[in-house]
Amino acid sequence: MKQLDDLTFDNRYARLGDAFSTSVLPEPLLNPRLVIASEAAMKLLDLDPNEAQSPVFAELFSGHKLWAEAEPRAMVYSGHQFGAYNPRLGDGRGLLLGEVYNDAGEHWDLHLKGAGQTPYSRMGDGRAVLRSSIREFLASEALQALGIPTSRALCVIGSDTPVWRERQERGAMLLRLAQSHVRFGHFEYFYYTRQPEQQKILADHVLAMHFPECLEQPEPYLAMYREIVERNAELIALWQAYGFCHGVMNTDNMSVLGITFDFGPYAFLDDFDANFVCNHSDDQGRYSFSNQVPIAHWNLAALAQALTPFISVEALREVLALFLPLYEAQYLNLMRRRLGLTTAEENDKQRVEQLLQLMQNSGVDYTRFFRHLGDEPAAAAVKRLRDDFVDLAGFDAWANDYLARIDREGPQDDEARTTRMHAVNPLYILRNYMAQKAIDAAEKGDYEEVRKLHRVLTRPFEAQEGMEAYAERPPEWGKRLEISCSS
Ligand code: AMP
Ligand code: MG
Repeated sequence: MKQLDDLTFDNRYARLGDAFSTSVLPEPLLNPRLVIASEAAMKLLDLDPNEAQSPVFAELFSGHKLWAEAEPRAMVYSGHQFGAYNPRLGDGRGLLLGEVYNDAGEHWDLHLKGAGQTPYSRMGDGRAVLRSSIREFLASEALQALGIPTSRALCVIGSDTPVWRERQERGAMLLRLAQSHVRFGHFEYFYYTRQPEQQKILADHVLAMHFPECLEQPEPYLAMYREIVERNAELIALWQAYGFCHGVMNTDNMSVLGITFDFGPYAFLDDFDANFVCNHSDDQGRYSFSNQVPIAHWNLAALAQALTPFISVEALREVLALFLPLYEAQYLNLMRRRLGLTTAEENDKQRVEQLLQLMQNSGVDYTRFFRHLGDEPAAAAVKRLRDDFVDLAGFDAWANDYLARIDREGPQDDEARTTRMHAVNPLYILRNYMAQKAIDAAEKGDYEEVRKLHRVLTRPFEAQEGMEAYAERPPEWGKRLEISCSS
């Protein structure tokens, strides 16, 4: 176990030079205090969990103190926002403090979000508010616990620094960990500014750092693109299977590692709704729940465009064409597991679609349905769940087909089925209203609820004593919360 002073830095991105990032010092927050830290994330750096309690911890992650080896940099990138190209984005309020290696040789970027203005701040104040920092912290740790690839969150530090959004709020900083902070937009920036030499340096850096096995391939850049397509297909399959709506799938928010990245007004579905739009400034519903699949494809095409200086258009097209079939196969497998099925049948895709349509028509809670489907033998479970549906004839037809389908899998061991299904169907999910309650308390200086919610969500598949309320249906007000995209 390491102390804060013992971290090993090797700032490879900083060494790429000023074409890739700009040296900027964090602007400290007033009266910093620890809101929450993740022990699991601290472990990634081999940090002793007690270090979170040391005053130096809050100072390091609020811009008051820096390691001698840290080299804070704001990265430059661009990207497509809501379909339109924005030539210059970059880290407007976050800094890559440095890169740390743990004892296992794993690499982690320390990124401090809310660290003040940079050359890329445009009109922004460079800050992040407590509300959005808590939301990002909870979501990244909740996704991780569900087994969904994501950036991680080490801690949130609150403060008295006033920050203006729709109202006056307080500034906070979030320490984000990711193995890379390179976004699709990094490649787009060098492509659209016509800097092929720099773009090649970036591509070689990403290859060496994150896709070394692609260097063995006859066409390393193409192999890397294929890997990015595959990882994103897997990621989106997981989002769709677990009802995660990202909200702002701009290409500058897409990671080349295929991890969930840059959380804004995200939401997990309460009632199933394919057309759900979690970002209330997304008037066109571009990033609606079901659009996440074609949008991921669109974003991968934007990345392909940026790679045309190195790879032939035909080869890129061929690899991009893998996305949908890969996505569909993985999504279907995940949904089979969620339904407790252990074999594959031709009609499973329709079975899933029919169920989702019925759930949509009746506004059935997405997480609870699958969890309770595994509570009892299938026949008893569907009988109980039937009450949630308005179209009883429709549900009965679906349920009869489902029961017959299960029969064809052979004799069922009820206990094994429950264990298997509960291991993939969470009892607890991060609902917007839960985050909101925790934020309301935190804004008054009480961090207990944030910490409790975090604890519940780190073991989402296990029933936890005293936490029954977190597995309940959301209150009606909780389903209609509008999540501001200002953060
Ligand atoms: P986001 O919506 O957080 O993905 O941010 C999109 C772009 O706006 C990125 O370049 C951010 O760095 C920048 N940005 C967002 N909020 C702020 C802010 N408060 N101050 C400066 N830049 C910001
Ligand atoms: Mg962003």
